[in-house]
Amino acid sequence: MELTIQIHPHDVRDEGGETVVRNILERAHIRTIIAETGTLEERHPYPRGELEHNPVHKVVYTDACFEIPGSAGWFSSLPFRPRLSPQAQAGEDYVQAVAEAAQRQGAEVLPWVKALNAAFEGDIESACVRTFTGEPIPTWLCPNNPLTEVYVRSLIINMMERYRSRAVLVDRLRYPDWSGATVSIRRMLTCFCPTCVTGMEEAGIDLSALSKLLEEFLQDLLILEELLEDAASSQVLQAWLQFRNGSITRLAERIWDAVRAWRTERGAHSAYWLNLWPPSFAPLLGQDYAALGKACEGAKHFPYHKLGGGADLAAFVKALAGEDSKERQERVFQLLTHLLKLGTISFQEYQEKGLPVSFVADQTRWGKERFGRSKIFTGIQIWDIPEEEIKDTIAQALQGGADGLFFYCYGWATLKALDSVGGVLRSME
Ligand SMILES: [Zn+2]
Repeated sequence: MELTIQIHPHDVRDEGGETVVRNILERAHIRTIIAETGTLEERHPYPRGELEHNPVHKVVYTDACFEIPGSAGWFSSLPFRPRLSPQAQAGEDYVQAVAEAAQRQGAEVLPWVKALNAAFEGDIESACVRTFTGEPIPTWLCPNNPLTEVYVRSLIINMMERYRSRAVLVDRLRYPDWSGATVSIRRMLTCFCPTCVTGMEEAGIDLSALSKLLEEFLQDLLILEELLEDAASSQVLQAWLQFRNGSITRLAERIWDAVRAWRTERGAHSAYWLNLWPPSFAPLLGQDYAALGKACEGAKHFPYHKLGGGADLAAFVKALAGEDSKERQERVFQLLTHLLKLGTISFQEYQEKGLPVSFVADQTRWGKERFGRSKIFTGIQIWDIPEEEIKDTIAQALQGGADGLFFYCYGWATLKALDSVGGVLRSME
């Protein structure tokens, strides 16, 4: 059973690597630490609360910068590269620093890599995704752009080469969702760059019908009920989602080939893991579990039930339904829970308590069923949740057949929550 916990750069910068590792070992009883190698545009903790044991900051806002100094050469054949954080620009490698602290204390650090999403500099518009109205999203690479494959392959192989860790976790191999610096529905309706437009035409997708459907959907989500009942509309939407899934799968397969070739060449044994959305949401983001299970050795999925499945479902509903009408929010929520098979629950109940903890077992089980022989690790929410519920969440993950527990995350959790994790893990030995 893999037991890991994820950390962010500011955890180490503000608390010191030795303290972070000691807390994780002694309190949470975990010895594998997964360190973020590039941040997201994100509030820490998300979406509310404070960093309880951070001695410097109560809240941190990150900006999707890359944390690996001296990495510009990895991308020298490309017209763009990830933007470095000021600390990385100054030569500070926090991942190396915390890996050394971990080694001194008998723990280990694995890199957590963000594939398609980062802050970039240079000519990113030649490779980023575009919305159906043509606007570029400069923080997200298109999976079908040939430059993207060069970028992601170089990023992952160089990361494996640099840290020689037991495993690597590759995240954000998918299309954009609605979150980011702001919540945006338009942002999740991609990609319509020239490469994808040609690809979709070749796949026989009626692009003018698709654009019209997406425009209608943006105007009024509830129209989706009618669209799905209409055979022609439903067929266009399905073909589009299938095209997106195929695009991510193809890229994932090429990267997996490159990882295996590198391992053979180097005689290295680093395991290759993906970070996926929970099965209910994954097909909407381009992630096909059955196909991706063959393009990695394991995946973490994140059924954070309090937050509504890893993404902020409440923010999504409000963005779709507007802030004003409670009744409309309820209808949108009911439509989403029906489409995503999230069970029967009212929006008000969801906002107060989150999804029921059984969501963790259901999603883990579905993931296992679809993922073939590759492992499924379950993300366990340990922030913004009563400490006593951590034990139930772990039990649900195990009941679903999880091959590992990935606790999320060190900095957002209270020290008491870390102690609860440690208590449960000790009792499982
Ligand atoms: Zn594209």
